[in-house]
Amino acid sequence: MKQRITVAKGDGIGPEIMDATIKILKAAGADLEYDFIEIGKKVYQAGEKSGISQQSWNNLRKNKIFLKAPITTPQGGGYKSVNVTIRKSLSLFSNVRPCRAYTPYVRSHFPKMDLVIIRENEEDLYAGIEHQQTNEVIQCLKLVSRPGSERIIRYAFEYALAYNRKKITCMTKDNIMKQTDGMFHSLFDEIAAEYPGIETEHRIIDIGAAMIAGRPEAFDVIVTLNLYGDIISDIAAEVAGSVGLGGSANVGENFAMFEAIHGSAPDIAGKGIANPSGLLNGAILMLVHLGQNKVAEKIENAWLKTLEDGIHTGDIFRKDMSFKRVGTDEFAEEVINRLGQKPLDLTPASFDETGRQIHIITKPESAKVKELVGVDVFLDWNENDRNPEILGKIIDKLPATHLKLKMITNRGVKVYPDGQPEIFCTDHWRCRFVLTETSNHRIAQNEIIHLLQNFASAGLDFIKTENLYNFNGIRGYSLGQGE
Ligand code: NAD
Repeated sequence: MKQRITVAKGDGIGPEIMDATIKILKAAGADLEYDFIEIGKKVYQAGEKSGISQQSWNNLRKNKIFLKAPITTPQGGGYKSVNVTIRKSLSLFSNVRPCRAYTPYVRSHFPKMDLVIIRENEEDLYAGIEHQQTNEVIQCLKLVSRPGSERIIRYAFEYALAYNRKKITCMTKDNIMKQTDGMFHSLFDEIAAEYPGIETEHRIIDIGAAMIAGRPEAFDVIVTLNLYGDIISDIAAEVAGSVGLGGSANVGENFAMFEAIHGSAPDIAGKGIANPSGLLNGAILMLVHLGQNKVAEKIENAWLKTLEDGIHTGDIFRKDMSFKRVGTDEFAEEVINRLGQKPLDLTPASFDETGRQIHIITKPESAKVKELVGVDVFLDWNENDRNPEILGKIIDKLPATHLKLKMITNRGVKVYPDGQPEIFCTDHWRCRFVLTETSNHRIAQNEIIHLLQNFASAGLDFIKTENLYNFNGIRGYSLGQGE
Protein backbone atom coordinates (compact mmCIF):
# COMPACT_ATOMS: atom_id res chain seq x y z
CA MET A 1 0.00 0.00 0.00
CA LYS A 2 1.30 3.45 -0.88
CA GLN A 3 2.35 5.68 2.02
CA ARG A 4 0.03 8.71 2.23
CA ILE A 5 1.82 11.88 3.36
CA THR A 6 0.66 15.41 4.20
CA VAL A 7 2.21 18.19 2.14
CA ALA A 8 2.19 21.96 2.70
CA LYS A 9 3.47 24.19 -0.08
CA GLY A 10 4.04 27.06 2.37
CA ASP A 11 4.82 30.68 1.54
CA GLY A 12 7.28 32.67 -0.59
CA ILE A 13 9.34 30.26 -2.72
CA GLY A 14 7.56 27.33 -1.01
CA PRO A 15 5.13 26.43 -3.84
CA GLU A 16 7.89 26.58 -6.49
CA ILE A 17 10.34 24.34 -4.63
CA MET A 18 7.59 21.95 -3.49
CA ASP A 19 6.32 21.48 -7.07
CA ALA A 20 9.88 20.75 -8.22
CA THR A 21 10.45 18.29 -5.36
CA ILE A 22 7.22 16.38 -5.92
CA LYS A 23 7.95 16.17 -9.63
CA ILE A 24 11.27 14.47 -8.84
CA LEU A 25 9.69 12.16 -6.21
CA LYS A 26 7.08 11.04 -8.75
CA ALA A 27 9.61 10.54 -11.55
CA ALA A 28 11.82 8.45 -9.25
CA GLY A 29 8.93 6.16 -8.38
CA ALA A 30 8.53 7.09 -4.70
CA ASP A 31 5.71 5.01 -3.27
CA LEU A 32 3.72 7.99 -1.99
CA GLU A 33 0.29 9.59 -2.15
CA TYR A 34 -0.10 13.23 -1.30
CA ASP A 35 -2.69 15.20 0.73
CA PHE A 36 -2.18 18.95 0.40
CA ILE A 37 -2.98 21.27 3.29
CA GLU A 38 -2.73 25.05 3.58
CA ILE A 39 -0.68 26.46 6.48
CA GLY A 40 1.05 29.79 7.05
CA LYS A 41 0.34 33.23 5.63
CA LYS A 42 -3.08 32.62 4.05
CA VAL A 43 -4.32 30.84 7.18
CA TYR A 44 -3.01 33.64 9.41
CA GLN A 45 -4.72 36.20 7.15
CA ALA A 46 -7.99 34.27 7.42
CA GLY A 47 -7.85 34.99 11.18
CA GLU A 48 -6.38 31.71 12.48
CA LYS A 49 -3.62 32.96 14.82
CA SER A 50 -1.88 29.57 15.01
CA GLY A 51 -1.47 29.48 11.21
CA ILE A 52 -2.99 26.01 10.92
CA SER A 53 -6.66 24.89 10.80
CA GLN A 54 -8.32 22.02 12.68
CA GLN A 55 -8.90 20.19 9.40
CA SER A 56 -5.16 20.28 8.69
CA TRP A 57 -4.40 18.91 12.17
CA ASN A 58 -6.77 16.03 11.46
CA ASN A 59 -4.95 15.24 8.24
CA LEU A 60 -1.54 15.37 9.94
CA ARG A 61 -2.76 13.07 12.73
CA LYS A 62 -4.01 10.60 10.14
CA ASN A 63 -0.93 10.52 7.88
CA LYS A 64 1.77 11.06 10.54
CA ILE A 65 4.34 12.08 7.91
CA PHE A 66 4.63 15.73 6.87
CA LEU A 67 6.65 17.26 4.04
CA LYS A 68 6.64 21.01 4.62
CA ALA A 69 7.87 23.97 2.58
CA PRO A 70 9.01 27.11 4.45
CA ILE A 71 6.45 29.38 6.08
CA THR A 72 6.53 33.16 6.55
CA THR A 73 5.75 34.02 10.17
CA PRO A 74 4.12 37.49 10.36
CA GLN A 75 5.97 39.85 12.72
CA GLY A 76 4.03 41.04 15.82
CA GLY A 77 0.24 40.84 16.15
CA GLY A 78 0.30 37.84 18.51
CA TYR A 79 0.83 35.32 15.68
CA LYS A 80 2.43 32.09 16.83
CA SER A 81 5.15 30.46 14.72
CA VAL A 82 3.42 27.53 13.03
CA ASN A 83 6.77 25.70 12.86
CA VAL A 84 7.18 25.79 16.64
CA THR A 85 3.47 24.93 17.17
CA ILE A 86 3.75 21.84 14.97
CA ARG A 87 7.01 20.67 16.54
CA LYS A 88 5.57 20.95 20.05
CA SER A 89 2.05 19.70 19.31
CA LEU A 90 3.26 16.55 17.54
CA SER A 91 6.06 16.09 20.09
CA LEU A 92 8.79 16.13 17.44
CA PHE A 93 11.54 15.98 20.04
CA SER A 94 14.45 15.41 17.72
CA ASN A 95 15.77 17.79 15.07
CA VAL A 96 18.26 16.17 12.71
CA ARG A 97 20.35 18.23 10.31
CA PRO A 98 23.02 16.65 8.14
CA CYS A 99 25.63 19.16 6.89
CA ARG A 100 27.93 18.00 4.14
CA ALA A 101 30.35 19.81 1.84
CA TYR A 102 30.04 19.36 -1.94
CA THR A 103 33.38 20.81 -3.00
CA PRO A 104 34.50 21.86 -5.50
CA TYR A 105 30.98 22.18 -6.97
CA VAL A 106 29.73 24.22 -4.00
CA ARG A 107 32.42 26.37 -2.39
CA SER A 108 33.56 25.33 1.10
CA HIS A 109 36.94 25.40 2.81
CA PHE A 110 36.32 21.93 4.25
CA PRO A 111 35.88 19.33 1.51
CA LYS A 112 35.64 16.40 3.96
CA MET A 113 33.00 18.00 6.18
CA ASP A 114 30.15 15.54 6.76
CA LEU A 115 28.44 15.90 10.12
CA VAL A 116 24.96 15.56 11.58
CA ILE A 117 23.58 17.82 14.29
CA ILE A 118 20.94 16.25 16.52
CA ARG A 119 19.22 18.89 18.58
CA GLU A 120 16.63 18.66 21.33
CA ASN A 121 13.57 20.32 19.87
CA GLU A 122 11.00 21.05 22.59
CA GLU A 123 12.62 22.29 25.79
CA ASP A 124 15.30 24.68 27.02
CA LEU A 125 14.71 28.42 26.59
CA TYR A 126 12.24 27.58 23.79
CA ALA A 127 9.59 26.77 26.41
CA GLY A 128 9.00 30.51 25.94
CA ILE A 129 8.28 31.27 29.61
CA GLU A 130 9.32 34.89 30.12
CA HIS A 131 8.39 37.45 32.77
CA GLN A 132 9.33 41.05 33.45
CA GLN A 133 9.79 41.14 37.23
CA THR A 134 11.14 44.61 37.98
CA ASN A 135 11.65 47.83 36.05
CA GLU A 136 15.05 46.57 34.99
CA VAL A 137 14.98 42.79 34.91
CA ILE A 138 13.24 40.28 32.66
CA GLN A 139 13.57 36.54 33.14
CA CYS A 140 13.37 33.64 30.66
CA LEU A 141 13.11 30.18 32.18
CA LYS A 142 15.40 27.47 30.87
CA LEU A 143 13.59 24.18 31.47
CA VAL A 144 15.52 20.97 30.89
CA SER A 145 13.86 17.68 31.80
CA ARG A 146 15.54 14.36 32.45
CA PRO A 147 13.22 12.37 30.13
CA GLY A 148 13.55 15.05 27.40
CA SER A 149 17.35 14.91 27.63
CA GLU A 150 17.45 11.13 27.83
CA ARG A 151 15.25 10.81 24.74
CA ILE A 152 17.42 13.02 22.53
CA ILE A 153 20.71 11.51 23.75
CA ARG A 154 19.45 7.95 23.17
CA TYR A 155 18.16 9.09 19.76
CA ALA A 156 21.67 10.31 18.86
CA PHE A 157 23.22 6.95 19.78
CA GLU A 158 20.55 4.95 17.93
CA TYR A 159 20.95 7.29 14.93
CA ALA A 160 24.71 6.68 14.92
CA LEU A 161 24.11 2.92 14.88
CA ALA A 162 21.44 3.09 12.15
CA TYR A 163 23.46 5.41 9.91
CA ASN A 164 26.87 3.87 10.56
CA ARG A 165 28.33 6.94 12.27
CA LYS A 166 31.35 6.38 14.51
CA LYS A 167 31.60 9.26 16.97
CA ILE A 168 29.21 11.45 19.00
CA THR A 169 30.17 14.79 20.50
CA CYS A 170 27.96 16.20 23.25
CA MET A 171 28.00 20.02 23.58
CA THR A 172 26.83 21.87 26.70
CA LYS A 173 27.80 24.82 28.88
CA ASP A 174 27.96 22.83 32.09
CA ASN A 175 30.92 24.77 33.45
CA ILE A 176 28.36 27.57 34.07
CA MET A 177 24.94 25.83 34.14
CA LYS A 178 25.89 22.97 36.43
CA GLN A 179 22.34 21.84 37.11
CA THR A 180 20.60 21.94 33.69
CA ASP A 181 23.51 21.40 31.30
CA GLY A 182 25.24 19.35 34.00
CA MET A 183 22.38 16.85 33.97
CA PHE A 184 22.50 16.66 30.14
CA HIS A 185 26.25 15.98 30.20
CA SER A 186 26.11 13.35 32.93
CA LEU A 187 23.20 11.58 31.20
CA PHE A 188 25.29 11.56 28.02
CA ASP A 189 28.16 9.88 29.91
CA GLU A 190 25.76 7.35 31.48
CA ILE A 191 24.15 6.41 28.15
CA ALA A 192 27.51 6.35 26.31
CA ALA A 193 28.54 3.45 28.56
CA GLU A 194 25.74 1.39 26.95
CA TYR A 195 27.26 1.92 23.45
CA PRO A 196 30.92 0.88 23.76
CA GLY A 197 31.33 0.70 19.96
CA ILE A 198 30.76 4.44 19.54
CA GLU A 199 33.49 6.94 20.34
CA THR A 200 32.26 9.82 22.51
CA GLU A 201 33.52 13.20 23.69
CA HIS A 202 32.18 16.35 25.32
CA ARG A 203 32.93 19.95 24.33
CA ILE A 204 31.89 23.19 25.98
CA ILE A 205 29.54 24.79 23.46
CA ASP A 206 31.56 27.95 22.87
CA ILE A 207 34.75 26.16 21.88
CA GLY A 208 32.62 23.52 20.14
CA ALA A 209 30.99 26.20 17.96
CA ALA A 210 34.41 27.69 17.21
CA MET A 211 35.68 24.25 16.18
CA ILE A 212 32.69 23.74 13.85
CA ALA A 213 33.67 27.02 12.17
CA GLY A 214 37.38 26.16 12.02
CA ARG A 215 37.69 22.37 12.01
CA PRO A 216 34.29 20.89 11.08
CA GLU A 217 35.86 17.76 9.63
CA ALA A 218 36.66 16.64 13.20
CA PHE A 219 32.96 16.02 13.93
CA ASP A 220 30.65 13.17 13.05
CA VAL A 221 27.40 13.36 15.11
CA ILE A 222 26.78 16.23 17.53
CA VAL A 223 24.04 16.09 20.18
CA THR A 224 23.05 19.18 22.12
CA LEU A 225 20.30 21.23 23.74
CA ASN A 226 17.77 23.28 21.80
CA LEU A 227 19.27 26.81 21.68
CA TYR A 228 22.87 25.69 21.16
CA GLY A 229 21.69 23.30 18.45
CA ASP A 230 19.77 26.06 16.70
CA ILE A 231 22.86 28.26 16.54
CA ILE A 232 25.45 25.63 15.62
CA SER A 233 23.24 24.16 12.88
CA ASP A 234 23.30 27.47 11.03
CA ILE A 235 27.06 27.83 11.57
CA ALA A 236 27.59 24.31 10.24
CA ALA A 237 25.33 24.87 7.21
CA GLU A 238 27.14 28.12 6.39
CA VAL A 239 30.58 26.52 6.76
CA ALA A 240 29.50 23.64 4.52
CA GLY A 241 28.63 26.35 1.99
CA SER A 242 25.17 24.94 1.66
CA VAL A 243 22.51 26.94 3.58
CA GLY A 244 20.31 26.65 0.50
CA LEU A 245 21.03 22.92 0.12
CA GLY A 246 20.39 21.46 3.56
CA GLY A 247 17.34 19.47 4.59
CA SER A 248 16.20 18.63 8.09
CA ALA A 249 14.06 16.06 9.86
CA ASN A 250 11.93 16.71 12.95
CA VAL A 251 11.19 13.32 14.40
CA GLY A 252 9.00 12.16 17.29
CA GLU A 253 7.81 8.76 18.46
CA ASN A 254 4.67 8.83 16.27
CA PHE A 255 5.10 11.71 13.81
CA ALA A 256 7.83 13.13 11.61
CA MET A 257 8.17 16.35 9.63
CA PHE A 258 10.70 16.99 6.86
CA GLU A 259 11.72 20.36 5.47
CA ALA A 260 14.48 22.57 4.05
CA ILE A 261 16.57 24.45 6.58
CA HIS A 262 16.19 27.80 4.79
CA GLY A 263 13.20 30.14 5.02
CA SER A 264 10.58 31.32 2.54
CA ALA A 265 12.99 33.72 0.75
CA PRO A 266 10.35 36.39 -0.03
CA ASP A 267 12.98 38.41 -1.96
CA ILE A 268 13.06 35.86 -4.79
CA ALA A 269 9.54 34.40 -4.51
CA GLY A 270 7.60 33.96 -7.76
CA LYS A 271 10.69 34.40 -9.96
CA GLY A 272 11.25 30.70 -10.63
CA ILE A 273 14.91 30.92 -9.61
CA ALA A 274 14.92 29.32 -6.12
CA ASN A 275 17.06 26.26 -5.47
CA PRO A 276 14.79 23.30 -4.59
CA SER A 277 17.73 21.24 -3.20
CA GLY A 278 17.09 21.95 0.51
CA LEU A 279 13.53 20.65 0.33
CA LEU A 280 14.61 17.78 -1.94
CA ASN A 281 17.20 16.77 0.67
CA GLY A 282 14.45 16.95 3.32
CA ALA A 283 12.37 14.63 1.12
CA ILE A 284 15.33 12.22 0.81
CA LEU A 285 15.53 12.07 4.64
CA MET A 286 11.78 11.30 4.61
CA LEU A 287 12.18 8.44 2.13
CA VAL A 288 14.92 6.87 4.28
CA HIS A 289 12.73 7.31 7.37
CA LEU A 290 9.94 5.48 5.51
CA GLY A 291 12.24 2.68 4.45
CA GLN A 292 12.13 3.67 0.74
CA ASN A 293 15.92 3.62 0.77
CA LYS A 294 16.53 2.66 -2.83
CA VAL A 295 14.37 5.54 -4.16
CA ALA A 296 16.20 7.88 -1.75
CA GLU A 297 19.54 6.64 -3.07
CA LYS A 298 18.44 7.06 -6.71
CA ILE A 299 17.32 10.66 -6.15
CA GLU A 300 20.38 11.65 -4.11
CA ASN A 301 22.77 10.24 -6.70
CA ALA A 302 20.95 11.97 -9.58
CA TRP A 303 21.03 15.22 -7.60
CA LEU A 304 24.79 14.84 -6.86
CA LYS A 305 25.42 14.16 -10.55
CA THR A 306 23.46 17.30 -11.48
CA LEU A 307 25.66 19.34 -9.12
CA GLU A 308 28.78 17.71 -10.56
CA ASP A 309 27.68 18.46 -14.13
CA GLY A 310 27.62 22.14 -13.22
CA ILE A 311 23.85 22.53 -13.57
CA HIS A 312 23.34 25.18 -10.90
CA THR A 313 20.65 27.56 -9.69
CA GLY A 314 21.67 31.20 -9.23
CA ASP A 315 22.49 30.90 -5.51
CA ILE A 316 25.40 28.49 -6.13
CA PHE A 317 26.27 29.50 -9.71
CA ARG A 318 30.00 30.34 -10.17
CA LYS A 319 31.58 31.06 -13.53
CA ASP A 320 34.61 28.84 -12.82
CA MET A 321 32.66 25.80 -11.72
CA SER A 322 29.16 26.03 -13.25
CA PHE A 323 28.22 24.95 -16.73
CA LYS A 324 24.64 26.21 -16.94
CA ARG A 325 22.48 28.56 -14.81
CA VAL A 326 18.98 27.12 -14.46
CA GLY A 327 15.72 28.02 -12.73
CA THR A 328 13.80 25.88 -10.23
CA ASP A 329 11.81 23.88 -12.74
CA GLU A 330 14.66 23.29 -15.15
CA PHE A 331 16.87 22.13 -12.27
CA ALA A 332 14.20 19.54 -11.37
CA GLU A 333 14.11 18.37 -15.01
CA GLU A 334 17.89 18.00 -15.04
CA VAL A 335 17.77 15.86 -11.87
CA ILE A 336 15.01 13.72 -13.42
CA ASN A 337 17.14 13.26 -16.57
CA ARG A 338 19.92 11.83 -14.39
CA LEU A 339 17.83 9.36 -12.37
CA GLY A 340 19.74 6.07 -12.49
CA GLN A 341 23.15 7.80 -12.78
CA LYS A 342 25.77 8.15 -10.06
CA PRO A 343 28.21 10.98 -9.35
CA LEU A 344 31.75 10.31 -10.58
CA ASP A 345 33.64 12.56 -8.16
CA LEU A 346 31.40 13.20 -5.14
CA THR A 347 30.82 10.21 -2.85
CA PRO A 348 27.64 8.51 -4.05
CA ALA A 349 24.76 7.80 -1.64
CA SER A 350 24.46 4.16 -0.70
CA PHE A 351 21.64 2.98 1.55
CA ASP A 352 21.11 -0.68 2.29
CA GLU A 353 17.59 -2.08 2.39
CA THR A 354 17.18 -1.84 6.17
CA GLY A 355 14.64 0.64 7.51
CA ARG A 356 15.94 3.49 9.63
CA GLN A 357 12.95 4.05 11.96
CA ILE A 358 14.40 4.75 15.37
CA HIS A 359 12.43 3.82 18.49
CA ILE A 360 13.56 5.11 21.83
CA ILE A 361 12.91 3.39 25.12
CA THR A 362 13.65 5.61 28.08
CA LYS A 363 14.33 4.13 31.49
CA PRO A 364 11.97 5.27 34.25
CA GLU A 365 13.84 7.23 36.89
CA SER A 366 13.51 5.83 40.41
CA ALA A 367 11.80 8.25 42.82
CA LYS A 368 14.27 10.25 44.91
CA VAL A 369 13.87 11.55 48.44
CA LYS A 370 13.08 15.24 48.05
CA GLU A 371 13.88 17.44 51.03
CA LEU A 372 13.04 21.13 51.36
CA VAL A 373 16.15 22.82 52.77
CA GLY A 374 15.57 26.52 52.16
CA VAL A 375 14.06 29.16 49.94
CA ASP A 376 15.20 31.96 47.66
CA VAL A 377 12.95 35.01 47.91
CA PHE A 378 13.33 37.43 45.00
CA LEU A 379 12.69 41.13 45.65
CA ASP A 380 12.07 44.26 43.63
CA TRP A 381 13.91 46.86 45.76
CA ASN A 382 15.06 50.26 44.57
CA GLU A 383 15.65 52.26 47.76
CA ASN A 384 18.60 53.69 49.72
CA ASP A 385 20.81 53.92 46.61
CA ARG A 386 20.40 50.14 46.29
CA ASN A 387 22.84 49.65 49.14
CA PRO A 388 22.94 45.89 49.87
CA GLU A 389 24.12 46.47 53.45
CA ILE A 390 20.93 48.43 54.19
CA LEU A 391 18.71 45.79 52.55
CA GLY A 392 20.51 43.05 54.51
CA LYS A 393 19.96 44.86 57.82
CA ILE A 394 16.23 45.40 57.03
CA ILE A 395 15.78 41.69 56.34
CA ASP A 396 17.86 40.60 59.34
CA LYS A 397 15.46 42.61 61.54
CA LEU A 398 12.32 40.84 60.28
CA PRO A 399 10.54 38.78 63.02
CA ALA A 400 12.41 35.52 63.69
CA THR A 401 11.36 32.27 62.02
CA HIS A 402 13.24 28.98 61.65
CA LEU A 403 14.57 30.36 58.37
CA LYS A 404 17.61 32.61 58.48
CA LEU A 405 18.98 34.93 55.77
CA LYS A 406 22.19 33.34 54.48
CA MET A 407 23.04 35.78 51.72
CA ILE A 408 21.70 38.27 49.19
CA THR A 409 22.84 38.16 45.58
CA ASN A 410 22.33 40.59 42.72
CA ARG A 411 22.43 39.00 39.26
CA GLY A 412 23.84 35.88 40.92
CA VAL A 413 26.78 37.56 42.75
CA LYS A 414 26.83 37.72 46.56
CA VAL A 415 26.43 41.32 47.75
CA TYR A 416 25.51 40.65 51.43
CA PRO A 417 27.05 39.92 53.83
CA ASP A 418 30.55 41.07 52.91
CA GLY A 419 29.91 41.95 49.26
CA GLN A 420 32.46 43.86 47.22
CA PRO A 421 31.42 47.55 47.19
CA GLU A 422 32.19 47.87 43.45
CA ILE A 423 29.48 45.40 42.34
CA PHE A 424 26.84 47.05 40.17
CA CYS A 425 23.37 46.32 41.54
CA THR A 426 20.06 46.27 39.66
CA ASP A 427 16.63 46.49 41.32
CA HIS A 428 16.37 42.65 41.36
CA TRP A 429 17.59 40.85 44.52
CA ARG A 430 17.70 37.20 45.54
CA CYS A 431 17.58 36.57 49.31
CA ARG A 432 18.59 33.03 50.27
CA PHE A 433 17.06 31.58 53.44
CA VAL A 434 18.12 28.32 55.08
CA LEU A 435 17.31 26.68 58.43
CA THR A 436 18.88 28.37 61.45
CA GLU A 437 21.80 26.39 62.82
CA THR A 438 20.01 25.71 66.12
CA SER A 439 16.81 24.34 64.56
CA ASN A 440 16.75 20.62 63.94
CA HIS A 441 13.29 20.31 62.41
CA ARG A 442 12.33 20.00 58.74
CA ILE A 443 11.02 23.02 56.87
CA ALA A 444 7.28 23.03 56.32
CA GLN A 445 5.91 25.00 53.37
CA ASN A 446 3.80 27.21 55.64
CA GLU A 447 7.03 28.56 57.18
CA ILE A 448 7.82 30.01 53.79
CA ILE A 449 4.37 31.59 53.81
CA HIS A 450 5.13 33.12 57.25
CA LEU A 451 8.37 34.47 55.91
CA LEU A 452 6.59 36.06 52.96
CA GLN A 453 3.99 37.57 55.31
CA ASN A 454 6.88 39.19 57.18
CA PHE A 455 8.21 40.57 53.90
CA ALA A 456 4.76 41.94 52.99
CA SER A 457 4.30 43.54 56.45
CA ALA A 458 7.68 45.27 56.07
CA GLY A 459 6.59 46.63 52.66
CA LEU A 460 9.16 44.51 50.78
CA ASP A 461 7.95 43.70 47.25
CA PHE A 462 8.66 39.99 46.75
CA ILE A 463 8.26 38.98 43.12
CA LYS A 464 8.81 35.26 43.32
CA THR A 465 10.23 32.42 45.37
CA GLU A 466 12.21 29.33 44.47
CA ASN A 467 12.30 26.48 46.96
CA LEU A 468 15.68 24.88 47.61
CA TYR A 469 15.61 21.09 47.57
CA ASN A 470 18.04 18.27 48.08
CA PHE A 471 17.35 15.05 46.15
CA ASN A 472 18.70 11.93 47.85
CA GLY A 473 20.82 14.31 49.89
CA ILE A 474 22.39 15.94 46.82
CA ARG A 475 22.00 19.70 46.39
CA GLY A 476 19.46 20.46 43.66
CA TYR A 477 20.25 24.17 43.25
CA SER A 478 23.28 26.23 42.35
CA LEU A 479 25.33 28.23 44.81
CA GLY A 480 25.60 32.00 44.48
CA GLN A 481 28.89 33.38 43.21
CA GLY A 482 30.87 34.00 46.40
CA GLU A 483 28.47 31.94 48.57
P1 NAD B 1 15.63 32.82 4.16
O1 NAD B 1 16.32 31.53 4.36
O2 NAD B 1 14.24 32.78 3.66
O3 NAD B 1 16.49 33.72 3.14
C1 NAD B 1 17.85 34.12 3.39
C2 NAD B 1 18.55 34.40 2.06
O4 NAD B 1 18.80 33.15 1.39
C3 NAD B 1 17.70 35.23 1.08
O5 NAD B 1 18.55 36.09 0.37
C4 NAD B 1 17.10 34.19 0.16
O6 NAD B 1 16.81 34.69 -1.13
C5 NAD B 1 18.18 33.12 0.11
N1 NAD B 1 17.59 31.78 -0.07
C6 NAD B 1 16.92 31.04 0.87
N2 NAD B 1 16.52 29.90 0.35
C7 NAD B 1 16.91 29.88 -0.95
C8 NAD B 1 16.76 28.96 -2.00
N3 NAD B 1 16.12 27.79 -1.82
N4 NAD B 1 17.27 29.27 -3.20
C9 NAD B 1 17.93 30.42 -3.39
N5 NAD B 1 18.11 31.36 -2.43
C10 NAD B 1 17.60 31.08 -1.23
O7 NAD B 1 15.70 33.60 5.56
P2 NAD B 1 14.97 34.93 6.03
O8 NAD B 1 14.97 35.94 4.92
O9 NAD B 1 15.59 35.26 7.33
O10 NAD B 1 13.47 34.50 6.34
C11 NAD B 1 12.37 34.70 5.46
C12 NAD B 1 11.11 34.14 6.09
O11 NAD B 1 11.24 32.73 6.26
C13 NAD B 1 10.79 34.68 7.50
O12 NAD B 1 9.41 34.94 7.57
C14 NAD B 1 11.16 33.55 8.42
O13 NAD B 1 10.35 33.56 9.59
C15 NAD B 1 10.82 32.36 7.57
N6 NAD B 1 11.55 31.12 7.94
C16 NAD B 1 10.84 29.96 7.87
C17 NAD B 1 11.48 28.76 8.15
C18 NAD B 1 10.66 27.51 8.08
O14 NAD B 1 9.53 27.54 7.65
N7 NAD B 1 11.22 26.37 8.51
C19 NAD B 1 12.84 28.73 8.47
C20 NAD B 1 13.55 29.93 8.50
C21 NAD B 1 12.90 31.13 8.22
